[in-house]
Amino acid sequence: MESTPMTDGFHVMVDALKLNGIDTIYGVAGIPITDLLRLAQSEGIRYIGFRHEQNAGNAAAIAGFLTQKPGVCLTVSGPGFLNGLVALANATTNCFPMILISGSSDRSIIDLQQGDYEELDQLSIAKPFSKAAFRVNNPEDIGVGLARSIRAAVSGRPGGVYLDITAKTLGSVLDLKASERSLIRPVDPAPRQIPSPESISRAVQLLSGALRPLIVLGKGAAYAQAEVEVKTLVEETHIPFLPMSMAKGLLPDNHPQSAAAARSYALGNADVVVLVGARLNWLLSHGKSPLWSESCQYIQVDIDSTEMDSNRPIVAPVVGDIRSSLRALLQALKPGSVPVRSEWLDAIGEKKQKNLNRMAERLRANPDPMNFSSALGQVREVLLARPDVYVVNEGANALDFGRNIIDMNLPRHRLDSGTWGIMGIGMGYAIAAAVETGQPVVAIEGDSAFGFSGMEIETICRYKLPVTTVILNNGGIYRGDTGDGEPSPTGFVRDARYDKLIEAFGGVGYHVTNTESLAQALQAGLGSGRPTLINAVIDPTAGTESGHIQSLNPKSALHQ
Ligand code: ADP
Ligand code: MG
Repeated sequence: MESTPMTDGFHVMVDALKLNGIDTIYGVAGIPITDLLRLAQSEGIRYIGFRHEQNAGNAAAIAGFLTQKPGVCLTVSGPGFLNGLVALANATTNCFPMILISGSSDRSIIDLQQGDYEELDQLSIAKPFSKAAFRVNNPEDIGVGLARSIRAAVSGRPGGVYLDITAKTLGSVLDLKASERSLIRPVDPAPRQIPSPESISRAVQLLSGALRPLIVLGKGAAYAQAEVEVKTLVEETHIPFLPMSMAKGLLPDNHPQSAAAARSYALGNADVVVLVGARLNWLLSHGKSPLWSESCQYIQVDIDSTEMDSNRPIVAPVVGDIRSSLRALLQALKPGSVPVRSEWLDAIGEKKQKNLNRMAERLRANPDPMNFSSALGQVREVLLARPDVYVVNEGANALDFGRNIIDMNLPRHRLDSGTWGIMGIGMGYAIAAAVETGQPVVAIEGDSAFGFSGMEIETICRYKLPVTTVILNNGGIYRGDTGDGEPSPTGFVRDARYDKLIEAFGGVGYHVTNTESLAQALQAGLGSGRPTLINAVIDPTAGTESGHIQSLNPKSALHQ
């Protein structure tokens, strides 16, 4: 009698990933997933191995943002899973589709708390941080587990999904035929969501009466790849627009209708605002005064109906996917139905020019040592000629100055601290940007921010990725002028030579102290396509505590 061909959980998992077009996975090897990674690699899936799960998770999350396919991160059980959890939570918060797949130890021992290796009830822990969470206990269920994870990650408002795979599941054998039958490729996992015609009429009506309309673009619009619809809406209606930081480049920052350089004026005076894939969260002062006018009325385009009225009443909610919604809106807008408000446009234009002139002056100044403006002014000059470069940006002052100074020309080319203002996304995002797009990446990092993921420069060197990291080194968190006694809570080693770190792994390091050599080093890094790190020494007194969000930092009344 012929024996039935058999397979095992490892193979089913890899087959399921391949069937669903997952061509890249990010992770850290170890028990019980090492063989899974080996097998995936031998089956043609690209595996990028990291030094810490948080960075691998961040890479997967931003891969999801860039591609609309869930980024996949694989971790070991227990602490490895916990390390990945920050990234999962951050992905959910930012609406990035990712799947964190973690191996876990023996269910029966975990459930009785009998003390297994890395024993942890991972599924329960992951739930509050994810959009959905599943566990697979049998190899026959791997297919359905992955299919549901994919659908949960990308449908509606995207988010992070946790998929728990027990070690036993991976090692179990099953009938090959049963395995083949168990695989699922979800049909249309992120279907279009067409807004109701009434919601569109309401929006058009509100817009047609607006005296000072404004369009606010958020990273939801960038994720939705709605650049064509956004451009048409902005240009046909002549309404000024304001990009949130990761929506920069959806339309070029030098677009005549950009109100970015007149942000406070535009937000404070607008009477009707169209929010397109942007939430009225803390980044927009919850829609409240003094940033906003009390009487401002909102049209909000969002795929998630529960986002409406979260902070301010939404007069015209448009619930749908952004591309379908903007298309419907454009179709309903007859020529002239939104009157051109020249006075408003002129007022914004004037304010903008004043601010741009002031900024140009700051960028022209060339102090010794460099400060944030002069250093980033050089980075700006180099990047103006290279719109293809992906920009990753994190820090406090490095982020605030970077966002304002570095212009973006192409959609989804700016990847930054996002909704939480999180530190630690730098190297993970940079690696995934390079891996997913094949394009050069510049990571503009505060010296403190860099420290959270800095070890991944080994990963960048190992995979020979075209990433140039620029560290704006002022020797501390916020700034580095912290005195000579015991190290202060915000200070680091003075004159730290981060450039030597990358040399340890075969990359190219530059130590620069003036704008000219900074520009040269950046050009060399971008030109070579080699892993490069530029330690840009700036004034330790440059920068302010907490950057632009000092108001969020309570100060002790008793502190002198
Ligand atoms: P930002 O930080 O740039 O303001 P947010 O992350 O706060 O942006 O908001 C993004 C919004 O976009 C979320 O409310 C999310 O539900 C929404 N969104 C994401 N993808 C889509 C899509 N394809 N269509 C419609 N809305 C989307
Ligand atoms: Mg610093």
